[in-house]
Amino acid sequence: MTFNPADKIQDLQYFGEFGGVNPSISDSSTYTFLSAKKMFDTFEGNAEGCYLYSRHSSPSNLYLGKALAAMENTEAANVAASGMGAITSVLLQLCGAGDHIVSSRTIYGGTYAFMKNFLPKLQIHTSFVDSTKPEQVEQAITPNTKVLYCETVSNPLLEVTDLRAMAALAQKHNLKLVVDNTFSPLAIAPKDLGADVVIHSLTKFINGSSDTVGGVVCGTQEFIDALRNVNDGAAMLLGPTMDSYRSASILKNLRTLHIRMQQHSRNALYLAERFEQDGLKVVYPGLASHSGHELYQQMYNKEYGFGGMMTLDVGSLDKANELMELMQNRNIGYLAVSLGFYKTLFSAPGTSTSSEISPEEQAEMGLSDGLIRFSIGLDNDMERTYQMMKTCMQEVGIL
Ligand code: PLP
Repeated sequence: MTFNPADKIQDLQYFGEFGGVNPSISDSSTYTFLSAKKMFDTFEGNAEGCYLYSRHSSPSNLYLGKALAAMENTEAANVAASGMGAITSVLLQLCGAGDHIVSSRTIYGGTYAFMKNFLPKLQIHTSFVDSTKPEQVEQAITPNTKVLYCETVSNPLLEVTDLRAMAALAQKHNLKLVVDNTFSPLAIAPKDLGADVVIHSLTKFINGSSDTVGGVVCGTQEFIDALRNVNDGAAMLLGPTMDSYRSASILKNLRTLHIRMQQHSRNALYLAERFEQDGLKVVYPGLASHSGHELYQQMYNKEYGFGGMMTLDVGSLDKANELMELMQNRNIGYLAVSLGFYKTLFSAPGTSTSSEISPEEQAEMGLSDGLIRFSIGLDNDMERTYQMMKTCMQEVGIL
């Protein structure tokens, strides 16, 4: 039987303290020990079965981590207060002064800014390459390289990286492959394709209700223990800790992720096909015209489709802004960054989520001014939505 991540989440059984159908929320920052000796042992690293302090771990965070590890088919996971909290902890755990990262050049703007502007302060340097071309990735590897980094489906250009090829390079050069899988939960399982560490911003599809930020790191038990180590663990010492109330609410939302992803994917494919027929410049991994279409199919779990993210190039920033404002006025969706909401969200990445990337670099990677990134919502009737969007496009002169 093939591995279906939704079944693995479904099969977990948690009971609340009084037999509740949801686990109890651990409303404590600290925990009592029955003996001083046990407390000492716990701080020495023998924390098995014990909670010591909620920055280290809490029952609620461990429940959510367990479910996300099941989803990504990894041994363990550590939840974080945000996606950036997860990303920065991982990179600082894996790299020290003098080390080097080879990263995809099309990644979330915050991650790019962290690698480009922040890590050099710690003498950690990054080469940004086109990760859709494994030979470019290999050429950039130096004796100091420790990490290969990419997003499965990149933000915002929706480029698809061949994770098997990246994993082969990582293995050949003894590097860690770190993959941000935020755009393709359930659909693609990077660990099964060879990734060492899988990261998500939970803020997006996984939580799906745009009411909190959150993140997770999925990996081996050894790596997750290292992140939480009281002496030198980046997650423990930098402290991007998720609050228990939030992890409990994200766990409840995770229960419907498989249904939501199917609907996001169905709706996005519907619109992408229509807009392509209309002659618009639409990019969506589910279209045969997408350069990563076949590659995505070699990696995906068909049931969850090609995801909810789509881009449309409308020619200029002015046109993009005019269209987005009109679509918001007509209540087709919201002019907002982020993704994975029930309502369609749209923004122009060049001036928002990727604004950390200089205009020259944006041009080089093909991020044009008129590009609109859509996170397609859970609309019930997509033909109706398509007609409404088409009318807006006609009114602003794009169609
Ligand atoms: N990774 C990707 C692909 C993202 O799109 C984002 C945010 O937009 C992040 C990471 C950062 O996540 P967070 O905003 O939860 O810190």
